[in-house]
Amino acid sequence: MKGFTSSLWPIRYKPLPDELLSSWLVRLAHGHGMKAQPFCNAIFGPGLQVWNRDIDRLAPEWLIQELCDRTGTTLQAASATTLRVYEGFLYPVFRTTGTLKWIQTLQMYHRKRNGFGLQFCPQCLRESSEPYFRKSWRVAYNTTCLKHQCMLHDRCSKCGASVAFHRLNMGQSSSLRIESLATCHQCGFDLRRANTTPIVTYNSQTTAWHRILCIKTLSGHLQRDPVSLDAMNVMHHVIFMLSSRYSRVRLKEYVCEQLNVADMTLTPGYPSFESRPLAERHHLIQLMAWLMIDLEPRLRVAWRAKAIRYNLMFKDFSDAPDWYLNIVEGFSDWRRDANG
Ligand SMILES: [Zn+2]
Ligand SMILES: [Zn+2]
Repeated sequence: MKGFTSSLWPIRYKPLPDELLSSWLVRLAHGHGMKAQPFCNAIFGPGLQVWNRDIDRLAPEWLIQELCDRTGTTLQAASATTLRVYEGFLYPVFRTTGTLKWIQTLQMYHRKRNGFGLQFCPQCLRESSEPYFRKSWRVAYNTTCLKHQCMLHDRCSKCGASVAFHRLNMGQSSSLRIESLATCHQCGFDLRRANTTPIVTYNSQTTAWHRILCIKTLSGHLQRDPVSLDAMNVMHHVIFMLSSRYSRVRLKEYVCEQLNVADMTLTPGYPSFESRPLAERHHLIQLMAWLMIDLEPRLRVAWRAKAIRYNLMFKDFSDAPDWYLNIVEGFSDWRRDANG
């Protein structure tokens, strides 16, 4: 542990473009020839648990400050590795518990991850001399890689385990070689070798719309303005309506018919959009995009076709913006006319 007592560490990697805090921290551990867990125990002491929580989201101040002090990184650059940068853009206000809109859940259980909350692009991993994981891979609507025009993955394609590079080499003695972050912690598969699949496209317009949405998440494009946040909330509600399973309500099937695509059965049990597998999210996003492209007439026609119940358009949507309420309230005139 010699060298750790001086204020700067021998290895002082800085965060790479769009890098996640956990990725940066594990790279630092590996750079010092250590596994993630013993490294954090040595730095923070066994009393401060790092890996039993979603540190990219919670990002405790003591952890960020320590990394800044020991690597000479600015507080701004270190803070930019956390999912808090999406505050005011993807979700209104940061909070430590509950679901954050559009942020994928890891479903932590002790140090294990039961959810598939971290995605990756094999080609992006392959491209950098040192593979690392991006913040935007935690955003639930990012199901594709803009750069490589391919689908992302949300699990090891060999054994199906979630991505959890902090668990690499956990059962092995410290003398063993430290694997790259692109190694599956469970089976050792090199995630860079996962197949590259072209983007699944239902309709050129919806794919183009989705692409623009993904560009907005890239660093440097984040705009904290209430107009985009309103749109994000409406998009989220449209997905809620698509995945609702009330009897006689079949908006999802209806949109699939309009797009002439096969529907997909969703995981039962009402999981949040943020904890759904990648294929389900990608399906729902494209259906949502089709509605969003021309929301008023498409939602109206869907409602007239009895593909959606009127109340569902408001249900649990307390932060609905006025423009959305105007659209839906406009239908009530139709409803009166239809009943009269
Ligand atoms: Zn890529
Ligand atoms: Zn595996």
